[in-house]
Amino acid sequence: MPLAMVTGASRGIGRAIALDLARAGFDLLISCQSRVDALAAVADEARALGRTVHAERLDVGLGKTVEDAVTALVAAHGCPDALVNNAGITKDALFAMMGRETWEQVLSVNLGGLYSVTRPILRQMLRRRSGRIVNITSISGQRGNPGQVNYSASKAGIIGATKALALEVASRHITVNAVAPGFIDTDMVKELPLDKIVPLIPMGRPGKPEEVAAAVTFLCSPAASYITGQVISVNGGLYT
Ligand code: NAP
Repeated sequence: MPLAMVTGASRGIGRAIALDLARAGFDLLISCQSRVDALAAVADEARALGRTVHAERLDVGLGKTVEDAVTALVAAHGCPDALVNNAGITKDALFAMMGRETWEQVLSVNLGGLYSVTRPILRQMLRRRSGRIVNITSISGQRGNPGQVNYSASKAGIIGATKALALEVASRHITVNAVAPGFIDTDMVKELPLDKIVPLIPMGRPGKPEEVAAAVTFLCSPAASYITGQVISVNGGLYT
């Protein structure tokens, strides 16, 4: 069975990605920051589909500690065939009011997490000369969003990292792509003014986590073998 690792898999988009990959035949390594009960429930759902699942807490914003933890995970469970860097946070504020801590927290989880989780796995993928990496970016990284300078910077950084890494590893049969959701119905957007945002979406509704997961599973599938360095938008027409 192929193996996929998904960060931030306890809820929202990451949960949908983990379960969709499980349905597509992937065994799973899944992680989250703190909601281990929710993560365990996702693991149980995937096991009910016949998959082997290892679930553990892994705060991707903790730098070198994360690299060591991922190295240990790979040693214990093998190198994932597919890695989905999904864990992410927002800490919104107008830039003029944004404290350094708020800036650094978002950058260290969203962009630092990609660095720390990807490197130990990429080294193994390079040895094996195969692999799929999918990074979850955002429409905020494609066009910017007021009140989200930190988040937009981190998500634009993910797009740049995706494109550069894709070029570095293409000759080793490793693809690196990004998926850019628009406005998706999860905890992350609960505080946002739905009534003001939905009229701006050409399809007239928020997306579902499963609609993002479908794009990720496709990029992890054999059918996507010649696609790399791309950003696939899943946004109901909001950014086209
Ligand atoms: P969510 O419902 O808030 O879930 C976030 C997930 O990330 C949870 O599993 C959470 O774990 C995990 N997480 C948060 N901080 C973490 C950390 N430091 N280390 C490890 N895991 C951490 O968010 P979502 O809407 O599903 O978003 C998932 C991804 O899609 C994010 O990268 C987000 O930026 C991106 N995105 C979302 C939208 C949207 O409209 N929802 C749009 C564009 C992009 P716990 O449960 O343990 O806290």
